[in-house]
Amino acid sequence: MFESTITKPDERHALVIGGSIAGLLAAQVMTKYFNQVTIIERDHLSAQPEQRPGVPQAHHFHILLKRGLVVIEQLFPGIQTELAASGAVAINASADCLWYGLGGWTPRFNSDLNFYSLSRNLLEWIIRRRLAANNRVVFVQASQVTSLLSNPNKTQVTGVQVRQKIAHKQDTSYRQTDFTADLVVDASGRNSRAPRWLEAMGYTPPKETVINSFLGYASRLYELPENFQTDWQGALVTAKAPGTRSGGMFAIEGNRWIVTLAGIGRDYPPTDEAGFLDFARSLRNPIIYEAILNAKAISPPIAYHRTENSWHHYEKLSRLPSGFVVIGDAVCAFNPVYGQGMTTAALGALTLDECLNKQLSRHADGNLVGLSQSFQKQLSKIIAVPWLMATGEDFRWNTTVGGRPNLMTKLMQLYLDQVLLLAAESSDIHRLFLEVMHLLKPPSVFFHTNVFRQVLQRIIRESDKKWNKSGDKLLVDH
Ligand SMILES: Cc1cc2nc3c(=O)[nH]c(=O)nc-3n(C[C@H](O)[C@H](O)[C@H](O)COP(=O)(O)OP(=O)(O)OC[C@H]3O[C@@H](n4cnc5c(N)ncnc54)[C@H](O)[C@@H]3O)c2cc1C
Repeated sequence: MFESTITKPDERHALVIGGSIAGLLAAQVMTKYFNQVTIIERDHLSAQPEQRPGVPQAHHFHILLKRGLVVIEQLFPGIQTELAASGAVAINASADCLWYGLGGWTPRFNSDLNFYSLSRNLLEWIIRRRLAANNRVVFVQASQVTSLLSNPNKTQVTGVQVRQKIAHKQDTSYRQTDFTADLVVDASGRNSRAPRWLEAMGYTPPKETVINSFLGYASRLYELPENFQTDWQGALVTAKAPGTRSGGMFAIEGNRWIVTLAGIGRDYPPTDEAGFLDFARSLRNPIIYEAILNAKAISPPIAYHRTENSWHHYEKLSRLPSGFVVIGDAVCAFNPVYGQGMTTAALGALTLDECLNKQLSRHADGNLVGLSQSFQKQLSKIIAVPWLMATGEDFRWNTTVGGRPNLMTKLMQLYLDQVLLLAAESSDIHRLFLEVMHLLKPPSVFFHTNVFRQVLQRIIRESDKKWNKSGDKLLVDH
């Protein structure tokens, strides 16, 4: 069933391309400023949380970082209660989630670093349900945006052209429809065609930076046997470069566990029964292997290899048509292993809120000229930190393509190694590390005097140990 949108001349209408996390969050923000928000989604949207073709990554574990949870709660007050009521598992990052990092197991302690573990499908569905309850929001599904509409001199995007699927009894046909809007937000993900649409309007497309560590995922759902008692709800075993393999398992709704194995540098985890288990066994710690060995698999292992860091630099364009912004993975998609995509999408929605607020308080007539540039510039500042974190880590592997780490990056990596080793010894440092990982604090906190002092002390202590050991060896050798 298709809903059509008729924009009255006195109504402000915003339109979102793509009804996934970035699109839904942007839509929620825009309900504050527009009489109607239309979300155009290529897929059919189910009334239940279900896997759909447009979001193949939903087969794999999706951590909503604490910062993302805070922002989503801000956008949809009370949503955490809905997550919990739908079976999402409450996890304390420092107490309930085991982490086998560079220096081994990190300390466990209670903190306020609470988040929820749930499937990506459930999260999207809960957000969509909240939006659907708003009568300013219209979902147009099974409809693919094929191009942008513009004014005659191409200075303004005025809507989109859509190809809609019409299912008849026997066969399927398509019809083309135009939707007009004052603001079009592209949230169509990694494969966004916005660069080509802009080019077709006579604009220079954005340059793209790609840094690819050739990471591959394979994920599978399990029911753990009843006699498998744990006092943890999640476990992560990270790779130690040049080692390539990592993995994680998390309890999710429906009494299930999602297990994701990951290999960097094309060391892709296999998707056959034995290969998947062997890969789990080969991780730096056997905790995941031991947990799944006798567990009941309830889905086949599913692979995903499209994981490069990709940043389209809209912020650097000197010309952009007004009435058009790009958000979410369509601007910047990260290597997913650091779990930053949905949180960055949420921060992008907040940025859109700030920019719209500023623009419309200056222009009560609804003039959006200049919004596109100011939004993309602000967004790039948000992206810069997770980008640095993800690519800085990926550069640890010399199989990564798209650039080489400079001396500064190499020094940073050495310093971060020390912080990570300290995290295995000190609750304070582990807490700080989690706060940075959850995008609650910037990585610059690792350079505060207090941390720097502890890093120096550790280096001195360890070199003393080495010195004494080699002294002992010399004495024995004599
Ligand atoms: C394997 C993997 C694991 C990940 N793990 C995490 C994680 O742990 N934590 C985290 O925060 N992030 C994770 N991410 C990233 C996360 O999935 C995305 O950042 C997040 O979904 C936001 O993406 P988006 O909404 O911008 O785009 P997408 O989720 O890709 O959605 C794009 C939407 O647009 C629709 N669409 C596309 N083209 C059109 C068109 N022309 N017309 C209409 N509709 C269209 C698609 O059908 C889809 O619904 C992971 C990503 C991958 C690949």
